[in-house]
Amino acid sequence: MAFLSKLINTSRLSRVLLIRILLFSGLFTVIITAVQLSLNYQNEIEELQKKSKQLVHSSEGPLVLATFELNDRQVILITEGLFRSGLFKSLIVKGTYKGIPESTIISLGEKNIQTQGWRHPLIFEYKGRFSKVGAIEFQIDIDPIKQKIMDEFIIILISQFIKTFFVSIFILFIIHNLVIRHLDEISNWLNNFKPESSFSPLALETDKGSDSEMVKLKSAISEMGQQVHKHTIGLEKAVAERTAELEKLAYTDSLTGVANRGAFLQASNEELSRSRRLSYDIGVMMLDLDHFKAINDTYGHDAGDEVLKQVSKAMSNCLRKEDTLGRIGGEEFAIITPGADKGGMHKLASRLQQSIALLNFPFLPEDKNITVSIGYTKISNDENFKAALKRADVHLYTAKASGRNTFITDKGFVPSIVN
Ligand code: GH3
Ligand code: MG
Ligand code: MG
Repeated sequence: MAFLSKLINTSRLSRVLLIRILLFSGLFTVIITAVQLSLNYQNEIEELQKKSKQLVHSSEGPLVLATFELNDRQVILITEGLFRSGLFKSLIVKGTYKGIPESTIISLGEKNIQTQGWRHPLIFEYKGRFSKVGAIEFQIDIDPIKQKIMDEFIIILISQFIKTFFVSIFILFIIHNLVIRHLDEISNWLNNFKPESSFSPLALETDKGSDSEMVKLKSAISEMGQQVHKHTIGLEKAVAERTAELEKLAYTDSLTGVANRGAFLQASNEELSRSRRLSYDIGVMMLDLDHFKAINDTYGHDAGDEVLKQVSKAMSNCLRKEDTLGRIGGEEFAIITPGADKGGMHKLASRLQQSIALLNFPFLPEDKNITVSIGYTKISNDENFKAALKRADVHLYTAKASGRNTFITDKGFVPSIVN
């Protein structure tokens, strides 16, 4: 019973199945039983009719004689004897004598106009002559048959209901085990299935029925889930890679591969915030190639591009991974150096100049190098990044004015080539 209540409460399908089986079976039972019992009823009535007629027939002789002899006492005795058989609803014997109208000799039971009745004439025969001495009228009692048929009807209905109920439970139990249980598992699994999160396969039965349709279905669904999971993970990875590529494209200078102006400014602001949070120094440096226009003009724009690429590469090689290099103008670059003190920046500026000067270009004469002018400064605690960049730019301008190929920093910073 616990199983039944669990089944009915948790599974709507089981509930619907049980109710429908009971309803349909009940309906068919009622129809079939009603047809069968109505045939039985007819048979029983016919049987009763036959019996009652036979009984009347068996007493007919003595009854005719007693009526002929006007022996009312005998007529009553015979009639009462017949009535005691219990077959009759009513029994009336009437007598007549030489043209006198019939009169009732005895009337037993109650006449019912609804019920079928018979009238049987009582004929006396003497030496081939017949004379009517009266008649017997009788009705059979069908109430006991009706009652019996109704009782049978109710018993059949109840027993059929009980039988159907238990058969339904048994069928449900089987259907539950073979189908509904699996459907529940599939639906729970699908409800919890998230293609983007880790994949756990739908549990399959390994001990028995591993080749049943439901197990095959579960296996197919699980397999499909795994494909969807794999596909989703692949898609997410592809999207992430594509996004990273696009971001790189958006933040990278296409010629040199270093950060473009926007990306550099964004990285600088983020780095400045971090340096303030964690209290470390941060420096900014501006660089501008000397007489770059002349390179373009003399050796062509492609040569100029090549110089920009090589210079960017050389500068990148001089930097630590926490430094950021950006191309912020045509042949203008900037660097932020988190954690670098003045001495460190000085060394870096010097190293950058040397690395750039050492670059070889096939189009340049032996005695000609690429040189760069540099201005650098430390960002103070209370200023924003643009103000510090501006100061570095002023120092760069000073370096240009001082004859180029040099680096300048804030006055008072030693060692520096201060104007
Ligand atoms: P200075 O020493 O005063 O900096 O002189 P300069 O010639 O370097 O300065 P100027 O600003 O006069 O010239 C910069 C030149 O850089 C002008 C421009 O044609 C060139 N340039 C800017 N962007 C590119 C680029 O992407 N490729 C090439 N090949 N040249 C570029
Ligand atoms: Mg310039
Ligand atoms: Mg220049």
